[in-house]
Amino acid sequence: MDLKLKGKTALITGASGGIGSAVAEGLAAEGVHTCLNYNSNDKEVRRLQDLFRKKGLKSEIFKADISSNDDVQNMVDFAIEKLGHIDILINNAGISYHKKFLDMEMNDWDKVMDINLKSCFIASQLVARHMAKRGVGGKIVNNSSMVEGVARPNLTTYCVSKGGLGALARSLAVELAPYNIQVNNVNPGIIETKILGDKLENEPGFKQHLIDFIPMGRLGTAEECADLFVFLASQRSNYITGASYYIDGGVTISQL
Ligand code: NAP
Repeated sequence: MDLKLKGKTALITGASGGIGSAVAEGLAAEGVHTCLNYNSNDKEVRRLQDLFRKKGLKSEIFKADISSNDDVQNMVDFAIEKLGHIDILINNAGISYHKKFLDMEMNDWDKVMDINLKSCFIASQLVARHMAKRGVGGKIVNNSSMVEGVARPNLTTYCVSKGGLGALARSLAVELAPYNIQVNNVNPGIIETKILGDKLENEPGFKQHLIDFIPMGRLGTAEECADLFVFLASQRSNYITGASYYIDGGVTISQL
């Protein structure tokens, strides 16, 4: 199936990490020109840029801490200047944050909200204004989580930030529909990336402990998530908006 993505342009936040990097590769495989954001680790985005340029695609790199409003503005301006325009925004960058609710301080709240939620609001607004002005539509796909609609202990700020992303996608979907801009969420379950922390490698039994909760009996991969992002960024999903798609091996529906 032709996804009709060839020649489109995408800005991807957190392209230096597991899922973001896989999304960038998935989009580039369909002929999409990319602007790759990173914050602290430029090794992976440099590898991707080299790979994509060798295929004849435009690929740019931009360092931005997305918790900074100015950095987000500069990142969007840079992407528009270098790629000419933005057809697709992938709000992927995010952090996990484990702490007991009773021990939390306002800094904990601010940090997670700024990175996981506020950045998506600002980037989406800047890119949507650009898309609306161009008048040819566009796609915004957020990396939410299976916790968008359920609770997990010691993850309050993370759960609230991802719940907020659900509300953001639905609200923007309604307001941006007249501009032919579709806004959707991908809600991964437990995916084998660095966000799961050192315990995965260092603590025997931890991986199996996670797997025990998953009906499909394995962790998900970044590439599996990327396929869903690519579909939601493509012209094959044009009548889908304001939706959150779980990609979790059945874990969310199976919890008692
Ligand atoms: P990851 O490998 O740790 O990647 C996280 C990415 O976010 C990295 O590229 C990192 O950039 C970027 N990032 C973090 N803070 C940033 C900041 N302040 N400014 C800009 N970029 C920042 O983990 P991942 O699993 O791929 O996570 C990607 C997204 O998937 C997150 O939104 C996460 O909540 C979501 N998710 C993951 C899972 C899972 O099980 N893996 C499940 C549900 C949802 P640098 O490395 O350059 O700092």
